[in-house]
Amino acid sequence: MHLEDIQKDIYEIYIHHDRRRGIDKTLEWFLTEVYELYIAIKYGGDIGEEASDVIAWLLSLCNLYGINIEIEFKRKYGNKCPKCDSKPCTCEYRPEPNKKVVIVRIQ
Ligand SMILES: [Zn+2]
Repeated sequence: MHLEDIQKDIYEIYIHHDRRRGIDKTLEWFLTEVYELYIAIKYGGDIGEEASDVIAWLLSLCNLYGINIEIEFKRKYGNKCPKCDSKPCTCEYRPEPNKKVVIVRIQ
């Protein structure tokens, strides 16, 4: 199964809800799922299930924007690192991202 197939399934299952909810609320839902994945990893939980939720909500966002994520992903990453153009990556190892993200749970 390709990513495009999974995105199409998510479209067929949820697009009516996603359109009604809109981009802002779908983005909030996606971020909530990222937070739940964070909690599962840090404190224990079903990481596979939470990772699946993250992908599903990311695909919902892509569907609302009309983005084919398989095409976009291949365009950016292809089969090599987009920065050094190598496989495996030969970039300098970076243990942390350049930007820090603060996770805040708002009820
Ligand atoms: Zn690289």
